[in-house]
Formats: sequence, C-alpha cells, structure tokens
Amino acid sequence: MSRTRVTVVLSQAPGKHPAKRALEESVVAALLLEPDVEVSVVPNLYDLGPDHTGRLFLGSVKGDMVVLSWLYPRAAFWLLDRDGIKGHFGETKLKPPAEDDEAGDESESDTPVERPEAIGPSGEIPDRHIYTLDLRDSNKHEVYVAEIRRIVSECRERREAKARERAATSAPVLQLGLSLTKPEIVPAAPQQTFNPEALLAPAGRRWYPVIDYSRCTNCLECLDFCLFGVYGVDSLERILVENQDQCKKGCPACSRVCPQQAIIFPEYKSAAIAGAETGAVGGLKIDLSRLFGGDVGDALSSAVQERDRELVNDGREAVGMSVGIPKRQTDKSHGPKDELDKLVDDLDNLGL
Ligand code: SF4
Ligand code: SF4
Repeated sequence: MSRTRVTVVLSQAPGKHPAKRALEESVVAALLLEPDVEVSVVPNLYDLGPDHTGRLFLGSVKGDMVVLSWLYPRAAFWLLDRDGIKGHFGETKLKPPAEDDEAGDESESDTPVERPEAIGPSGEIPDRHIYTLDLRDSNKHEVYVAEIRRIVSECRERREAKARERAATSAPVLQLGLSLTKPEIVPAAPQQTFNPEALLAPAGRRWYPVIDYSRCTNCLECLDFCLFGVYGVDSLERILVENQDQCKKGCPACSRVCPQQAIIFPEYKSAAIAGAETGAVGGLKIDLSRLFGGDVGDALSSAVQERDRELVNDGREAVGMSVGIPKRQTDKSHGPKDELDKLVDDLDNLGL
C-alpha cells in the first residue's frame, strides 16, 4: 500500500507579531520532521491576489490538504473555495478554548440553528478534503502536529476504504475463487514546484466579503443592498463576490443584512462576522456591543449607517433605508415581532 502524503500549508499572520511568528516557526519546524506531510508557507491567505505565487501554489495542490491560518476554519475554507481551491470540508477535532471570547460579542449559541436549504458550492468538487485549522486555538505547536497526524491517518483510511471498494467492484475473479487485484498505485500528484521566496512575496492588505455557500440560499439581498458593485451573479444566476476589491475597507455592512449569516469578513473584529460558528437570532446577526453601546438600535440600522458612511466618503449621497433594504424587513411593522424585536424589548424592559 502506498504512503499517503498530505500537503500542509501555513498561512502567516499579517504583520510581524512576535508570538504569532514564533508559533508559526515552531509548527513548521516540527512538521518538517513528519514523514507523511509536505509543508509550505504562504503569506496571509486573505491577502493573496489571483497572481500571487502563494495562491498559484495552493491551486496546484491536488490531494488532501491542511491549511493552518489565523482565520476561523469556516472563513478559510470558503475563502479557498472562492479562489477555486475546492474540496470537501474536513472536520477538525481542534476546538477554540472555551474562554476564547476576545471579541466579547455576538449572539453565540451552542443551539444548532435550523437553516433553509443552501445552494452549496458551485461546480464540481474534487474527491479530496481540505482541513482548515485556526492557529488561535492553541499556542502549543504539539497540538497542531497531533491533529495533523490524526488527519493524515484519517485521509489514509479513507483512501484505503475507497481502494477496497474499487477492488471489490472491479476485480476479475480467478478460478479457485481467488481474486486478482493489482496493488493500488497512487501516483504522486504532479505538483508544481515554487520558489519559497516567491511563495512568501509580500501581499498587500485586502478587504472583501466571503460567501459561505453551505448557508447561502441565493436570496440576493446582499446584491440589492451593496451599492458598490461588489456582488454579481454567475451564468446560473448564483450570487458571487464579483469585484472583491471594490469593497470598502473595514466595512462589514452587508454581513448584517444576510438572513443566513452567510457573509463572512474573515478579519472583522467580531467573531460572528469573522466566520465563527455562531447561533442566530431571528436570522440577523446581532452585535451586542453595539446594541448596548446606545447609538445604534439594531443590526439593520448599523448596516445602513455603515453603508451611508461609505457612500458619503465616496462623495455620494446617503440613502438611509430607501434602497436595498432586505425584503423581509419591509413589512416588519405589520408582521409578528421577530427575535431581534423581542430582544430589544427585553433590553428596554430591563432598563438598559
Ligand atoms: S444575502 Fe446571504 S443568503 Fe442571500 S444571497 Fe447574499 S450571501 Fe446568500
Ligand atoms: S461591506 Fe459594504 S461595500 Fe463591502 S460588499 Fe458589503 S455592502 Fe458592499
């Protein structure tokens, strides 16, 4: 049986944070000693433009892959998917530390959220898994090495099971009941080689939304809401982030109006918007820090204010609630109160 080798790519933190660099270096040094992994390093995944060597390298990897980054796993996975680096989502056993709530925000909940059927990723998904690990989950390199060993063995078992399945369905049967199968030969995936310095060429900072298609229902509310031409649709009328770099730096407005919490800004300060697994309240993300902050009443008005600010910065007129407001909000005054209304009422009753 051939050995299973898994490609591990470490995406560096932006900037030169010494503790983060030290962890990155110790993870890479330890992985270099692992017999079943190929390890490479690229700059911050989120910043890689289409022509960056790091992106080309990621696109050249054909087999199972582990990506270590300073992003939530969901954010990193859909970011790669958007860049055409596709595969099945590999579940990691790494979990964020329980007290990890540095953003101090959001309606986090362990209660599973019932969601309508999503449109799912576009195109064909290759027969491989992509595991995305968050380097904020532990500051010990041993934790990542142990998880990567587990992943390598999971990938090996999966391949062996598939090989047995293939053999069982296609093996010619010889006389005496013996079956003749050729030992499986897994050719080493032809992988382009890249100069390590080119892989690590600096990448300028970027800011754009990432869509989680395992949640997106293609309601197109984000397309209506964004007035900066960021969103578009493909030939099948599926929503996509068409012009990534037209998004306004630091602004997460449309993520607040997505009814499925499918829009991720991987580097936004609040966990729910940055792609943490969170619960939902009435289909809208609620930024509790803002709610408690006083001047902004709810997620929708936060979004409208953020969008107006960017319009004015562009020398355009603020539009307030008059354009692109999610359809389900338009009859809000006539319909039953949603969870957000109830939460605001509860806060009012508490005298906050
Ligand atoms: S608003 Fe959300 S669910 Fe609707 S199309 Fe946009 S990303 Fe998808
Ligand atoms: S954050 Fe603002 S500019 Fe960027 S995509 Fe959303 S609405 Fe458009």
